[in-house]
Amino acid sequence: MTKILIAEDDMILAKMITRKIKDTLKFEVTHVTTLSQAMAVLEQGTEEYFIAILDLYLPDAPDGEIIDMVSQHLPVVVFTAQMDDDVRSFVESKPVIDYVIKHGERSIKLLVELVQRLSKNQDIKAMVVDDSAIARTMLANILKSFQFQVLTAGDGDEALALLAEHPDIRIVITDYIMPQMNGLELLEIIRGSLDLDRKELAIIGVSGQVGDTFSAKFIKNGGNDFLIKPFLKEELICRINQNIEFLEHIEAITTMAERDHLSGLYNRRYFFEVGERFYANAKRDHLTLVIAMLDIDHFKSVNDVYGHYAGDQVIKAVAKTLKDSFRSSDLVARIGGEEFCVLATNMAPDHIKITMERLRQAVEDTVVTVGESDIRVTISIGVNSDLEESLAAMLNRADELLYKAKTSGRNRVEEG
Ligand code: GH3
Ligand code: MG
Ligand code: MG
Repeated sequence: MTKILIAEDDMILAKMITRKIKDTLKFEVTHVTTLSQAMAVLEQGTEEYFIAILDLYLPDAPDGEIIDMVSQHLPVVVFTAQMDDDVRSFVESKPVIDYVIKHGERSIKLLVELVQRLSKNQDIKAMVVDDSAIARTMLANILKSFQFQVLTAGDGDEALALLAEHPDIRIVITDYIMPQMNGLELLEIIRGSLDLDRKELAIIGVSGQVGDTFSAKFIKNGGNDFLIKPFLKEELICRINQNIEFLEHIEAITTMAERDHLSGLYNRRYFFEVGERFYANAKRDHLTLVIAMLDIDHFKSVNDVYGHYAGDQVIKAVAKTLKDSFRSSDLVARIGGEEFCVLATNMAPDHIKITMERLRQAVEDTVVTVGESDIRVTISIGVNSDLEESLAAMLNRADELLYKAKTSGRNRVEEG
């Protein structure tokens, strides 16, 4: 689904929306100015279309007729200049995802943000927990119209089973009053149990008359939000969006704090923080711990000959080879300009040298093409698998071995 249909008879406005969508999102835009043109487009097939953005009033559809026609084929967002109570209830009664009111430049920004949100939601799993089938379906339909992947549970136990089965659920909307386990008890189990203590999970409570202390209790116990029924679909969606955006910001900040921007590997600070934990675990549980220090050979001359940008591409390529060579549970970091460090646990002793040798060879075999140039580099590796008295001591020894690899010819592995 790579396209968006826009029906808008104001040409200038349509152009502005189209440009903004093309600049910020990955969608192509098909623009029509009448209902009959819109139907002609849909007759060609709708598989490629993600959504339709529809003006309520078009020359050949003056009373919003286009909504019923198009919504049979595509999810619809309404873009309208008028929004009095009559229009609002008309739109509420129709199968549309949401509406945006035309009001200057900002409304185009809001419209495009909405499309972007809907597009991202396709990859997000949400779960609805409610013992009432009617309420469950109603909530699930709202979330589905917002393009979430939706799972439903009829009680707390079912919800916990689904969470265990789908660890990528990001949003839970739970009813409060349910037999066996109520919403607060469910929340407490989720936030309290180790493997489900996921900060990246937003939990929103909904309920009818439960007295005025419940929403406070719910939020105090780790709930992200609480809505009292009856609520407007719009309100629920705004709360969900705020919570999802909050999770995305946390994720972005975490990535910035832990990762190196160029290579995407863990950064030096994170390496030393988590490395100490790796070391303590290995020491306590008598696990093997392997430290490898790696450094690109004669990297300065790559910069000198091909330029700094090409040098950056080489660092990225080496980082990728490095990442692909180890398990996701191993710690692979860029700790300096062209220096990397790996901490690997539970590697079979006779496998260490083979793995490092294979990595060295993989880097030697990689060709990085930048412009007209094919660039090749090699790496030297110092490997230490003796569990010494501290992480620092292990790193020191690995560094000495790396130095030895450098002085005895480079493009080689030295093991200690
Ligand atoms: P050796 O084989 O002894 O390791 O020689 P070398 O040239 O690789 O080592 P040296 O430490 O002399 O030079 C490393 C160079 O890496 C110097 C620096 O400009 C470059 N460098 C460090 N960080 C970056 C980076 O992020 N991007 C690019 N393009 N170059 C970097
Ligand atoms: Mg209930
Ligand atoms: Mg170097």
